[in-house]
Amino acid sequence: MSQIAFIGLGIMGRPMTRNLLKAGHKVVVYDIVESAVAELEGAGAQRAASASDAAAKGDVIITMLPDGPDVEAAVLGSKGVLEGARPGSTIVDMSSISPMVSQKVGAACEAKGVAFLDAPVSGGEPKAIDGTLAIMVGGKQDVFDKVAPILQKMGSTVTLTGPVGAGNVTKLANQIMVACNIAAMGEALVLATKAGLDPEVVFNAVKGGLAGSTVLNAKAPMVISRNFKPGFRINLHQKDLRNALLAAESMKVSLPFTSLVQQMLISLMNDGKGNLDHSAIVTFIEQMANLEVKKP
Ligand code: NAD
Repeated sequence: MSQIAFIGLGIMGRPMTRNLLKAGHKVVVYDIVESAVAELEGAGAQRAASASDAAAKGDVIITMLPDGPDVEAAVLGSKGVLEGARPGSTIVDMSSISPMVSQKVGAACEAKGVAFLDAPVSGGEPKAIDGTLAIMVGGKQDVFDKVAPILQKMGSTVTLTGPVGAGNVTKLANQIMVACNIAAMGEALVLATKAGLDPEVVFNAVKGGLAGSTVLNAKAPMVISRNFKPGFRINLHQKDLRNALLAAESMKVSLPFTSLVQQMLISLMNDGKGNLDHSAIVTFIEQMANLEVKKP
């Protein structure tokens, strides 16, 4: 069985690593936060002293980091993954980052004889825990075929969507749909609440119809119970929409709804809500109507 190195043990990386351990893989782990490394060591992983040390011990090296600059630092930087990775090994970056950065990192890997895939995920912490993430991959078919059995230990759908960078283009498309969906749900529930209706009754009335969605089912109950514990943080979703808008600008594509929700996210971060779950997008619309979506 392949030896795996896992770098980035946050909300997502920790349960993903646990699923690899559960499947019988040997996993060597590294994070800049010591307590995260200690937790996984307690679960049976081996500790590494740096990203480069972890990479030297892995046949497949997985990174799960916040954004492009973190991936560049951890992979291309001093004591980074590429310093340690052996030619013939494969780096799978599962972070949600700009597709342009995936292409830059992928080219640097290829120059060292190391294969590279970008493989961001959707599904959040609950699906990371269950091992049922949706994984969208960019890279070469033969590299994908080699690594897919490992990705299937963390996800229930693993799809090759095109060359390196395509995984993150797919993820940005996903994030646009989720953000705009939450904002639309917010407007709908604010209107219904202002009209004197119980938002839970409205949610139950519409969820089986055309407006029903995974986003609605996951996020409406959080809003109605005023539970904004992340989940997926506003800060990270702002980062994704920024990456979507930068990619769109480079391709001369106009994304008016994405721009609008991006402005809401920036405002929420300035309001001290960056670490709340992205369902708190609704609070921006609530503020404009001066009410809270909750049971009357
Ligand atoms: P997180 O902030 O909880 O975890 C990131 C981890 O990376 C932290 O433990 C941090 O210490 C570590 N890190 C940062 N820089 C590092 C470096 N140079 N070397 C080693 N470790 C480093 O973030 P998360 O929620 O786990 O998200 C990770 C990625 O997955 C992000 O790109 C995010 O957009 C994406 N994602 C998150 C969710 C979610 O629901 N949380 C869902 C889908 C995708």
